[in-house]
Amino acid sequence: MDYFVELHLPTLFFVMAAVILILAGTHVMVFLAYPEMPGVKLCALGNFLFALPIFALFLLPSGSVPAFSVLFNTLMTSGFLLIYLGIREYTGNGVQRGRLLLTLAVFSGTYALFLSSIPWAFRTVAGLFTLGVFSFMTAWEACDGFRRIRTARSVFAGIFCLHGVFLLAFAGAGLDLALSGEGALGQNPGTLGIVIIEGTLAALAVNLSYILLITDLLSSRLARKAETDYLTGVYNRGGIIQMGEAMGQEPLSIIIADLDLFKKLNDKYGHAAGDKVLRNFADTVEKNLRPWDALGRFGGEEFLILLPRLGAERASRIAERLRWEIEKTEIPWESQPITYTVSMGISSRGENETKDLNRLIAEADEALYTAKSLGRNRVVWFDSGQMTIVRASEPLPGREA
Ligand code: GH3
Ligand code: MG
Ligand code: MG
Repeated sequence: MDYFVELHLPTLFFVMAAVILILAGTHVMVFLAYPEMPGVKLCALGNFLFALPIFALFLLPSGSVPAFSVLFNTLMTSGFLLIYLGIREYTGNGVQRGRLLLTLAVFSGTYALFLSSIPWAFRTVAGLFTLGVFSFMTAWEACDGFRRIRTARSVFAGIFCLHGVFLLAFAGAGLDLALSGEGALGQNPGTLGIVIIEGTLAALAVNLSYILLITDLLSSRLARKAETDYLTGVYNRGGIIQMGEAMGQEPLSIIIADLDLFKKLNDKYGHAAGDKVLRNFADTVEKNLRPWDALGRFGGEEFLILLPRLGAERASRIAERLRWEIEKTEIPWESQPITYTVSMGISSRGENETKDLNRLIAEADEALYTAKSLGRNRVVWFDSGQMTIVRASEPLPGREA
């Protein structure tokens, strides 16, 4: 009892619980402002579960604490598990709701049983050890998931790693105390004080890095929205040009694709059908690209494809396969499926060539013009001023201009 007074442990408990509650509150506020933000509900609930026993430690007479050690330990570790699962949801690796509840139930059940079967002195050790492991798992998840938002990810993962190291060290110290028969870590005011102070600082740091994460995520979402074409979901003109310029002078092949006689298609089937064809085209191209390639809608029915580190010959094979796939596509529409074709112009920049994006686009445009004038539905490759027709397919019947 005396050591609680001596070290103002109740005050420390109170401060720590308050900080964790603020953290939970932040999640709740984010949830109210952006209900679609994944993971916030789980993180908020996790923090509440974590803060609850700490508040209880502040309120309860110290002598009664051992009686609650299984419950408190289970609540805290389950809270931490929820935070981890929330971060997983946040990074897009979330588990389905039913399985999440099952995971939580199985974990809390077995963990409580396990704790009940070991002496009190070892329960805190087990708790700290589990929290440490969850900390590392959360850090790992952040590293794996937040690829686009580097600064926030590093801060977030760094804090959780550091917290994990501390927790494991405390677990080690607790184990030492328990093995030497000096009792539980909770009975040693000095060590307990340090654990609480570390926990409070960690909660504060997590709160700050969480806010950083949210701001970063929102701004990168906004940036992506501003770069996206509303109809097809691929980059818009600004977005794809920015992508192309960001590639600097690295070897690059580009394809400009323009749907053939699209005005006629619109006239025949209507604008809504035209929109569906544009979406179909974007989907078909995306399915055929490598993850690091990029597709953008350059204008009405004109698209720009960037194929970094790919020579013109392989680019033209990709283009030709695409052209062929499009030609075979039948899009269901009212009484009669729609078919359409595409013409493409290709240009390339090799290892030691210095051609800027504008120049590449001008060359690909010239090749595209040749493809159109040769009868459409074909791929033409611009090679140092020479036009190479990749495959001179016959124009489909009834599709001449
Ligand atoms: P070409 O084979 O020479 O390219 O002929 P084209 O008819 O495809 O070319 P043109 O430039 O004359 O017409 C492009 C058409 O694309 C005109 C426009 O109505 C249509 N278009 C542009 N944007 C959209 C869109 O967002 N949705 C639909 N449905 N049509 C669009
Ligand atoms: Mg066209
Ligand atoms: Mg056009």
